[in-house]
Amino acid sequence: MNKKIYFLLIFITLLATLVVYNYSDWKFISPVKGSSRFSYSQTAFGAPRVGHKHKGVDIFAKSGTPVISASKGIVIYTGVLSLGGNVVVVLGPAFKTHYYAHLKTTDTRLGMILNNGDPIGTVGNTGNAKNTPSHLHYSIGTMLPKWYKDNNNGLSFYTDPVPLLNKYFENLKNF
Ligand SMILES: [Zn+2]
Repeated sequence: MNKKIYFLLIFITLLATLVVYNYSDWKFISPVKGSSRFSYSQTAFGAPRVGHKHKGVDIFAKSGTPVISASKGIVIYTGVLSLGGNVVVVLGPAFKTHYYAHLKTTDTRLGMILNNGDPIGTVGNTGNAKNTPSHLHYSIGTMLPKWYKDNNNGLSFYTDPVPLLNKYFENLKNF
């Protein structure tokens, strides 16, 4: 076989694997302990904010409530950001990034391997949430954006967590 065609085929196979993996399902749990279907708004994702659109979901809970990892993954950031306050970012399956913000405390360190349900920190109102009731701002970033669906304000670089939460709580009921 022609060498060029051979390498092209390998490249296409790798690319296809990446795309399929990126959009495949992964095990998901609600990242706030004791949360329910009523802890968050159904229209949280894409809701208008001053100058941008909301790229995640706010899960409201008492300050100090445990925040746990919604997926498996590796901690790629633990630190303080001006908007997010105390923030933890986890790289999970399907190349999704899980962003946990406004934390009161954090339990993670860079490079930590997490399983579903492992401690991330506690719910707080750090960063730009200091005048807001305590909540977890949770976003799922995606490396291969669904630009063909919605490229409004960069929303396509994020996955809507609300349907995932709804499905999770729906499944809990059926046990
Ligand atoms: Zn938020």
